[in-house]
Amino acid sequence: MRHLLKLLPKVDTLLSHQDLQNLPQATLKRVITSTLNTLRDEILAQKIDENQLQIRLEQLVPTIKAQCKLAQEPTLKRIINATGVILQTNFGRSIFSQSLLDEITPFLQSYHTLEYDLHTGKRGERYIHTKETLCEMLGCEDALLVNNNASAVLLILNTFARNKEVIISRGELVEIGGSFRIPEVMKCASSILREVGSTNKTHLKDYQEAINEQSAMIMKTHQSNFKQIGFVQSCDMRALTHLAQEHGLIDYYDLGSGHLGVLDLPNEPSVKEILKHKPSLISFSGDKLLGGPQAGIIIGKSALIKQLKQNQLLRALRVDKFTILALEATLKAYKERQWHKIPTLAMLQIPQEALQQKTQSLYESLKNIPHIQCEMINLQSIAGGGSLPEETFASFGVSLYHTQIPTKTLESLLREKGLITSTKQNRILLDVRTLLEDDEKRIVEILNHIAHQENKGNNDRFS
Ligand SMILES: *Cc1c(COP(=O)(O)O)cnc(C)c1O
Repeated sequence: MRHLLKLLPKVDTLLSHQDLQNLPQATLKRVITSTLNTLRDEILAQKIDENQLQIRLEQLVPTIKAQCKLAQEPTLKRIINATGVILQTNFGRSIFSQSLLDEITPFLQSYHTLEYDLHTGKRGERYIHTKETLCEMLGCEDALLVNNNASAVLLILNTFARNKEVIISRGELVEIGGSFRIPEVMKCASSILREVGSTNKTHLKDYQEAINEQSAMIMKTHQSNFKQIGFVQSCDMRALTHLAQEHGLIDYYDLGSGHLGVLDLPNEPSVKEILKHKPSLISFSGDKLLGGPQAGIIIGKSALIKQLKQNQLLRALRVDKFTILALEATLKAYKERQWHKIPTLAMLQIPQEALQQKTQSLYESLKNIPHIQCEMINLQSIAGGGSLPEETFASFGVSLYHTQIPTKTLESLLREKGLITSTKQNRILLDVRTLLEDDEKRIVEILNHIAHQENKGNNDRFS
């Protein structure tokens, strides 16, 4: 083992290697050290013999160089979403339009009255801006913004149910996107989870029987990313609101995505419809179906919102001016019915003919690329982002394969170039619904590039 360790070059030797010049020193040093450490560990663990080590050492300098190059690349990269899933938390959920950004940029580039009252010259209120707009649009009493909907849940539970019981159906103890789980958030908020009913069925009497002097709240959570079918029953918010108010409890509905009623969604009541039953509090995300910035929008009774504002936690969950400006601009686009300013809504509403045209154009650009076989097909887009789990939107796109490269390999080659696709039955699928203006051009470039590499006889890479 010792003699193997002696074969490892010194850090300084590598640092001054002629092939490793003109690289940022800090990165180079870090990469060299970690590469040598890995080799040392493998030697000590007797994972490699002398032969294998020799091969690795021959490749050492090129490997280090490649890793330095990789480390210099930005981690945040633009991608093309050809999956047809409109809201992907991993891809940043709702995106913004140029016209919306143009409206808010002047404010971001100058001082503004974020928390300042021009009449009194005194401190104003950060939350007043969006509150006015939301109340006007939805006819609610009061509204408050926080960092995201998870913050909204945390703040509401911590304010009204600290060390007190929150009654919630077993079927609604949901997990959203890995890190948000209702039971865990309750713990964080110091609330006591009082689950009622069974996984598939919860009746009003289950809630009724759970009410005791420790109860503070009846909570309902939108199931968001899954749907129960078959022998199921849940309680609607109207009945829960009634029950809670009868017993002097707070009723709170975590709506998840929420939507403002623009889309025709027969199974999803809009925020406005839910507000008709006068719930104490509801909350939903700003960047799901609403199509705005990341935010948690809390709506409800003024007296309760006032209490939320007095919780110190709010200072930690406070929204930035960017959020307020972007949400204001998004809501203004709603009022003016300018859907093109809200890409999420625009994508969900693209007419079939437009999708067909987009598909035809993409197909024409792809069909003559060497080795690519493609055809136009019908697809189904989904909203994604923990909203509308069962709803699909008829769409179109291109299905393709490469005559020399297995589809699985092609999918990862495309992905590494920033083109995210889905695959089905050994075909790459490109749904045009989520493609943006210049995406077609870039897709053609990427596929041409791959075809070109293939022509150069770079076969081994792909097998
Ligand atoms: C998405 C979702 C959340 C979390 O919202 P974020 O805006 O991602 O913080 C909470 N509850 C439900 C029911 C959701 O669907």
